[in-house]
Amino acid sequence: MKLTILGATGSIGVSTLDVVMRHPDRFEVVALTGHSQVEVLAAQCRRCRPAYAAMGSAADAQRLAALLKAEGLRTEVLHGAEALVQLAGLPGVDAVMAAIVGAAGLPPALAAASAGKRVLLANKEALVMAGAVFMAEVRGAGALLLPIDSEHNAIFQSLPHRYAGDMARGGVRRILLTASGGPFRTTPLELLARVTPEQAVAHPKWSMGRKISVDSATMMNKGLEVIEAHWLFNAPADSIEVVIHPQSVIHSLVDYADGSVLAQLGNPDMRTPIAHALAWPERIDSGVAALDLFAVAQLDFERPDLARFPCLDLAYRALRAEGNAAAVLNAANEIAVQAFLERRLPFLGIAEVIAETMDAVPQAAVSDLEAILEADRQGRAAAVEILARRS
Ligand code: NAD
Ligand code: MG
Repeated sequence: MKLTILGATGSIGVSTLDVVMRHPDRFEVVALTGHSQVEVLAAQCRRCRPAYAAMGSAADAQRLAALLKAEGLRTEVLHGAEALVQLAGLPGVDAVMAAIVGAAGLPPALAAASAGKRVLLANKEALVMAGAVFMAEVRGAGALLLPIDSEHNAIFQSLPHRYAGDMARGGVRRILLTASGGPFRTTPLELLARVTPEQAVAHPKWSMGRKISVDSATMMNKGLEVIEAHWLFNAPADSIEVVIHPQSVIHSLVDYADGSVLAQLGNPDMRTPIAHALAWPERIDSGVAALDLFAVAQLDFERPDLARFPCLDLAYRALRAEGNAAAVLNAANEIAVQAFLERRLPFLGIAEVIAETMDAVPQAAVSDLEAILEADRQGRAAAVEILARRS
């Protein structure tokens, strides 16, 4: 299988290469992309000798090209947002791992869908912003969309494939989306105002990029995943329930009309969903250790506390509002999380900025990528203004 990895230098990208390199007979990497980490991408190119690589800026692309040329590698180095779209749709490539973080990942993920690829979707923001457009493109182009987000991969594994896309005929009653609760599940509420970026990115169960780690701490990550599940599985908002499960061993569950509940379990390691989607419908070694139930011993479940995690409520609100609301939510969240990471906004300010942004940007219908990107721009502009007014 010929493969393009978008966002190769990130947490998901590195895990993807780890799985891919275990099966050199099975996978061939054709293209790798990074954003600013020239040395990391250079080392990855040395290992898998792709035909193409891409960096964010022309200067970084030049540095990468010089490094690779000096070692006799013939990788062609491109740069910029247009290059990502081009590499996502490369003829001859079978599968595209979409692992860029944030709204920047939408255009290339959509290009992979339009080109009818096997799309391994880690970039949840693409579905949050553009769910209807994205799913229409997948269907129209005959792409195969396989979720990498561990919860959605678990749901995919637990759904009845025969009736995929038709929850009622498949007898699905509810989707139970599990959440670890992040690092602040039990932190006294009065201390939340003062938590630092370092504390927020130190996730108890998963090792991930900085943005998604903060999203996990606010539980906006789970909110984005509710919206993602809605689009992936054609599930109404009321049929998606969030369950806090601190051990992070059950990755999500599907509740059926006859009382059966199916779940997927495993050690919390993204190489499992990545290997699943790479090889589906076959199974391959991912490097993840077998689950030791005796060591796990106990599985706990709690209802999420919306006073502690207002972002979860905001995401349900955006999903029910339809139109541009989820794209605005996502844009405001990206701006607020960046401000928090740069210590310009306190932790509790993240939800406040998002709520105010959603109130400030007028509702609008979105029917194509241009309208979605406009909603993204409006959301960002409003959030930046709201942030400026606070300081
Ligand atoms: P990360 O920050 O570790 O990596 C992000 C990647 O995107 C890097 O390769 C970076 O170079 C690239 N990138 C960043 N900004 C870019 C831009 N403007 N243009 C082009 N490339 C850019 O993030 P991650 O944790 O690997 O997450 C990637 C995506 O996968 C996110 O959407 C996240 O929500 C999703 N996801 C991650 C995990 C996880 O365990 N890390 C789990 C589920 C879903
Ligand atoms: Mg997840």
